[in-house]
Amino acid sequence: MNGEDAALTLSSAVETLPGVGEARTKALARLNLHTAEDLLRYFPRDYEDRRKCCSIQEAPGQGAVCIWGMVAESPRCSRIRKGLELTKVKVVDDTSAMTVTFFNQSYIHQVLQPGERYLFFGRAEREGSWVQMSNPVFEREDRVQFLGRLMPIYPLTAGISNRLLAGLIRRCIDPCAGQIPELLPSEIRGEYQLAQSEFSYRNIHFPADENALALARRRLIFEELFYLSCGLTLLRSRRTGAEGPVCAALSLAPFYDLLPFSLTDAQRRTMEEAAADLAQVRPMNRLVQGDVGSGKTVVAAACAWIAHQSGWQSALMAPTELLAAQHVRSLAPLLAPAGMKVGLLTGSMTAKEKRTVRAALAAGEIHLLIGTHALLSQGVDFARLGLVITDEQHRFGVDQRAALSAKGIHGVPNVLVMSATPIPRTLALIIYGDLDVSVIDTLPPGRTPIETYVIGEDKRQRMYQFVRRQVRAGRQVYLVCPAVEEHTGQQQDLKAVTAYTQELQTQVFPDLRVALVHGKLRPKEKDFVMSAFAAGEIDILVSTTVIEVGVDVPNAALMVVENAERFGLSQLHQLRGRVGRGPYQSYCILMSNARNQESIARLKVLKETTDGFRIAEEDLKLRGPGDFFGQRQHGLPQLQIADLAGDTRILKQAQEAAQQLLAQDPDLSQPAHQPLLDRVRRLFAENPDIFN
Ligand code: ADP
Ligand code: MG
Repeated sequence: MNGEDAALTLSSAVETLPGVGEARTKALARLNLHTAEDLLRYFPRDYEDRRKCCSIQEAPGQGAVCIWGMVAESPRCSRIRKGLELTKVKVVDDTSAMTVTFFNQSYIHQVLQPGERYLFFGRAEREGSWVQMSNPVFEREDRVQFLGRLMPIYPLTAGISNRLLAGLIRRCIDPCAGQIPELLPSEIRGEYQLAQSEFSYRNIHFPADENALALARRRLIFEELFYLSCGLTLLRSRRTGAEGPVCAALSLAPFYDLLPFSLTDAQRRTMEEAAADLAQVRPMNRLVQGDVGSGKTVVAAACAWIAHQSGWQSALMAPTELLAAQHVRSLAPLLAPAGMKVGLLTGSMTAKEKRTVRAALAAGEIHLLIGTHALLSQGVDFARLGLVITDEQHRFGVDQRAALSAKGIHGVPNVLVMSATPIPRTLALIIYGDLDVSVIDTLPPGRTPIETYVIGEDKRQRMYQFVRRQVRAGRQVYLVCPAVEEHTGQQQDLKAVTAYTQELQTQVFPDLRVALVHGKLRPKEKDFVMSAFAAGEIDILVSTTVIEVGVDVPNAALMVVENAERFGLSQLHQLRGRVGRGPYQSYCILMSNARNQESIARLKVLKETTDGFRIAEEDLKLRGPGDFFGQRQHGLPQLQIADLAGDTRILKQAQEAAQQLLAQDPDLSQPAHQPLLDRVRRLFAENPDIFN
């Protein structure tokens, strides 16, 4: 260790490291690496095993090997053709000789010195009696650093090579690894047999062996999940002290009498859980999760009914105008016999219409207001807001939920969130850490299962024939194409979908009514097309995933998904839920020309099951949790090393440990826990709105 390194501290800027100038500083900044501490906390995504050594005679071994050898003569360069230069070096050891060849690396002949010993790492091949190695990595005998060991592989950016980054981190490890404070209480470390902080930082980067790596990883994952659990528990307990609008504890029987059907057990249980929440001083904050078609809307109605019995108004926010209107159509007649007035407020209403609604709302004449984001706008004032319901919550940010809640003037209103994204229960408890969760895990009786097929491009004509037969039988068809997301400018996809629609209109189905709806349309245009489809004026609706959320067209009995491999399974499952809403046998055809067997196998999961939760588990296994939440709208901090899907066992332990600690020190206010609290705050720092 030289004096310069000894002066390195966690807060040393990367510029102070040798070899890091302006350009590399900028490149490192792109990876969010500004200080020595950032470097230490930048974990490898993988490791390359460079430990296997053999002599030249023993080569070739399986895969890449390390070979010690002396450069026997000066490297020879030759130009094979334009753009291809070879540098060949003869290398010998006690057993034999080999040729090491480098392509387009003519500087090599200045680096490799005859008579010096080097460690070469690469794939050795035998050509006749000769061993040959191409483009190996090598290090001189007295400077071996990254060979003969487990080499960390880091996520990179342009201008930063893995070797450079590994070198920088290597420099920081010795002086700085011990400076990272140990924040895990020693009892917890003892109980869960967790490695020390310093050991873990050293071995996550440059593991002594697999065992050390496993110990380091486990500790770091545990640590991160522990902070996460502490933060979420603190969030939840913050609500315990809050007071909200209280509803009377009532029998739900009169509400049940309003319904044209009998509820499923799951619906009933969910309503009772929500009713119990509403009767408490602590405001309700409940997530209702249920697969598409499981009947969540009626749960919302039940809650609004309970609120109304105690004189509170309710708001229901839907992600699109169409859905808001659909809710009004189904809920207004349902609740009218109970004396409840349901209002609608959307952005496309005229100023006069809006004014009328706002006045009725402020006067307390509207008991349930249903709408879009317009509900959040200025001047929408409730007389007595007691309950806020958001539908299909993954479309709303945490902040939007908060904005609506802020409209309550009698403390924090009760909140009910409905989501069709079937997140596995264990995960939901974490993700929606500050929410209580009810799951509607059964569908109402009498649904005919949707028949699902996965087919390749070769069957396209037969698919078209099937579409035609369905239309002839009086049904309507959804034809979904990937992308054209609302916010990303994927012009390419939009062009492709537009061209495809034209082809369908003019060549494939010139006699049928084909229309297109996509995310780039204005809400009004979108609703116009969707309403025409709902009214049966369109036979085939080509769309991007804008129809994903809650649209109800019972006559649609066929869903075709193009390039199905580009969707997540849960997303496809949601899409499929758009059909099978009426009395007709319904079908889902997943088109995929993916030659990749894996992605075909993945799609077949949908053929095998209609259980949204099972599908979600598969998705989670295959693609990780990111898929459930397009943007990071769930409000969870970004995790560095832990994987919510893969590390469930450690997650459980970390949660347990967090509960233990918080049982002793509920708000981490003991002086000894101050650094821990700071760390938890830092983890949530990107989401100040949910944690402060
Ligand atoms: P989602 O959970 O997808 O929002 P909805 O609430 O829109 O589902 O319900 C889907 C359909 O099922 C609606 O037409 C609704 O009236 C109907 N439904 C809901 N619950 C029941 C039930 N228990 N029995 C029969 N039909 C039901
Ligand atoms: Mg719904």
